Amino acid sequence: MNQKQKILCVLYDDPVSGYPTQYARESIPELKQYPDGQSMPSPAKIDFNPGDLLGSISGGLGLKKFLEDQGHEFVVTSDKDVQNSVFDQEIVDADIVISQPFWPAYLTAERIAKAPNLKLAITAGIGSDHVDLQAAIEKNMTVCEVTYCNSISVAEHAVMQILALVRDYIPQYKWVIDGGWNIADSVSRSYDIEGMDVGVVAAGRIGLAVLKRMKPFDVNLHYTDRHRLSEDVEKDLNLTFHADVESLVKSCDVVSIHCPLHPETEHLFNENLISKMKKGSYIVNTARGKICERDAIVKALETGQLAGYAGDVWFPQPPPNDHSWRMMPNHAMTPHTSGTSLSAQARYAAGVREILECWFAEKPIRDEYLIVQGGGLAGTGAHSYSEGNTTGGSDEASKFKV
Ligand code: NDP
Repeated sequence: MNQKQKILCVLYDDPVSGYPTQYARESIPELKQYPDGQSMPSPAKIDFNPGDLLGSISGGLGLKKFLEDQGHEFVVTSDKDVQNSVFDQEIVDADIVISQPFWPAYLTAERIAKAPNLKLAITAGIGSDHVDLQAAIEKNMTVCEVTYCNSISVAEHAVMQILALVRDYIPQYKWVIDGGWNIADSVSRSYDIEGMDVGVVAAGRIGLAVLKRMKPFDVNLHYTDRHRLSEDVEKDLNLTFHADVESLVKSCDVVSIHCPLHPETEHLFNENLISKMKKGSYIVNTARGKICERDAIVKALETGQLAGYAGDVWFPQPPPNDHSWRMMPNHAMTPHTSGTSLSAQARYAAGVREILECWFAEKPIRDEYLIVQGGGLAGTGAHSYSEGNTTGGSDEASKFKV
């Protein structure tokens, strides 16, 4: 494919203090392969320093030189939600859109319809629910993501948040910052996780990594998934399998959510399901905000049905400044950061470059990276998603003001 392409890349803004000139660490570990043996991203070359900030505007996923040297047009913007945003203006003649789930460019059916040349949507990360997959299927587009690139990053964040909730870390930290020494206040909601029942909804790459990381805490581990893990894995981790999510939540003190957002899982955690949980349960959701019903979570925290809620995913993103999850009691939310550590960025930037190299050379993109291709779900998409659209309501992101 020799003709010039227009690549539109939507990334989050640089730090308010400016693009970093130095970093806390001089390097990141070089991984040889993913835990299941899948090979790491393997572009022919990279033009960035692994460990640098690549996911923000000035980092540009390290793609600028590569694309411009070949004569392609590379447009990078963070302006994506307001009316007549740069994203909306530039998409009309874009061939390829690249977006990160942390600052998602919502590729709705309307936007796809406005972009006659658009053939490829790349998720720099994992989770392509910000794309109307039904519209992409109907337009015969390719949608792909960098499978596994940040699965372990998210698993680490989920374990951190499980502990933060059960031990009630955030208020204790706040007492220190505020100059206090209030032990009784600090411990009045603090428990040990040892002996608790901890379950994951979906035991894919992230869910299984969370189970493995929780095992040394001497908890009872549970999971539900559409496909069952092997007997060996179940035995090794002493797992209890639940045929459905309802059975899982009834048995657990802590539930960590790790399924993709697709029509089957949208608003899975609604008032009805949460009412079946043990009183005083905890939910950690690093999967997608829309898997949980916003008001049901707030209500459950207010009534004490949930003792805590944490995670890093919201709907939409960015959430409006008055989004109720910012203010609800006993939460330990972060902005959507778990999958965009500097370590993860190096992997997904390399993965995006690999995908682009394949695309320009008209070589097949790895099957495990595919979500939609050839007019249907494909690769990982065929295994883990269902057809349809989950972008409805994403225009609310335009209410966020810096
Ligand atoms: P995987 O594809 O490895 O795992 C997803 C698992 O979800 C699969 O085992 C799949 O089942 C299962 N699943 C799908 N639908 C259901 C359902 N209705 N009920 C139960 N299980 C279901 O992906 P990862 O583990 O790498 O990532 C999972 C999700 O985490 C991503 O899709 C994304 O939304 C989110 N994520 C968040 C990040 C962050 O920064 N916060 C970063 C990366 C991912 P099966 O395939 O067996 O049918």
